[in-house]
Amino acid sequence: MFLPAELIKKKRAGEPHTPEEIQFLIQSYTCGETPDYQIAAWLMAIFFKGMSFDETVTLTKAMRDSGRVLDFSDLGTPVDKHSTGGVGDKTTLILAPIVAAAGVPVPMIAGRGLGHTGGTIDKLESIHGFSAHVSLDKFEKLVREFGLSIIGQTMDICPADRKIYALRDVTGTIESRPLICASIMSKKLAEGISALVLDVKFGSGAFMKTLSEAMDLARALKKIGEGAGIEVSALLTDMNEPMGRFVGNALEVHECLEILRGVTYVEDGVDFYEDTRELSLDLAGHMIWIGRKAKSFEEGRRLAEELLSSGKALKVFEDLCLHQGARDLKLPIANKQVIVASERAGVVQGFATEAIGISSIMIGAGRKSSHDKIDPTAGFEILVKRGMSVEKGQPLFKMYADSDKNFDVVSRKLVSSVTISSEPLKWPGKLVEHTLPFTEKEL
Ligand code: URA
Repeated sequence: MFLPAELIKKKRAGEPHTPEEIQFLIQSYTCGETPDYQIAAWLMAIFFKGMSFDETVTLTKAMRDSGRVLDFSDLGTPVDKHSTGGVGDKTTLILAPIVAAAGVPVPMIAGRGLGHTGGTIDKLESIHGFSAHVSLDKFEKLVREFGLSIIGQTMDICPADRKIYALRDVTGTIESRPLICASIMSKKLAEGISALVLDVKFGSGAFMKTLSEAMDLARALKKIGEGAGIEVSALLTDMNEPMGRFVGNALEVHECLEILRGVTYVEDGVDFYEDTRELSLDLAGHMIWIGRKAKSFEEGRRLAEELLSSGKALKVFEDLCLHQGARDLKLPIANKQVIVASERAGVVQGFATEAIGISSIMIGAGRKSSHDKIDPTAGFEILVKRGMSVEKGQPLFKMYADSDKNFDVVSRKLVSSVTISSEPLKWPGKLVEHTLPFTEKEL
């Protein structure tokens, strides 16, 4: 038995907690004994004073154990992927069926859009009939019998994180490294995975703006996952322009279906699906490797390519949708579609990608507050990529939505999100940039 006020004072003084103290606060908060205001004060103390690695691992495990913890270890090496979030980041819909087709069990509990970034569950729910809210028992059955299920957060998994995240959101304590790591990793650990591949994004459309910030977060997440008993591999990937051809829920599913069907979309010599496809294959290659179905990343990547080009991954995606309530892969189509044209000629130097993510919320593809309903048809088609030359009046984006009421303000924001100048582009022109998993030395 501890006194919460004493524990708050201890953390406020920068002293480390014992495991029992952290477990007490998480358990007593989850069951309602310790009130919001005391946990809010404690979170603020953590925000300022931080937590050691051992404290963060204890916090992660305590949050994991606040609800149901699944176990699929008897199936081999179940693997999931976590992306720190981006604009047009849709790789889950491609890599999950590839990895399941390789025989690696994939239990995925995914999120909705967060801030300016999109979420897997919102994308999947744009498929007519798809349910991301099947029971945990059905989730378990699907993973065991079919090898893959993707569902949204449930009340049973990590209730402590659900309460703490909501509190952090309104008390200015989101941006704390130990709290972010514990929040992300506790949910992943509760899924019953043995290994996790992290896609830590950096750049103008990511939460981490620089490569070094992304690397720090990747290191911390990897260490905490390993401290809690799972294998973790991390890729650092470029989010300096919207990924692929589309941003927005049904539009992104359309892009994934095209890629799963082997379709390419090339304009002015640029393959607009290249970055989505290549990153999905890289992540899938890592998942297959870490999931013990390949002896190296290269072998995993080759297998991923085969499963994509043979149509086997498409079949798994179709079956996933069928198992989770979608009778066909019908997607809603926007009533209104309007082009946004360039106001100047030159070479596209870069994008204010976060502003494009915010514009997608303004057009209806994301939520301004948690109770908002989204328009599944809303979003953008990206008509230019870095390094392309454009003429004045040439289309840069196409806006899609059921209503055009915000098109004027969104189109102004989109125009100003693209940097165009007469200089040739200095950036080397690679759409996917990432490092391979860290070696121990790099960590
Ligand atoms: N995603 C989470 O689930 N938690 C955080 O704290 C940040 C991102």
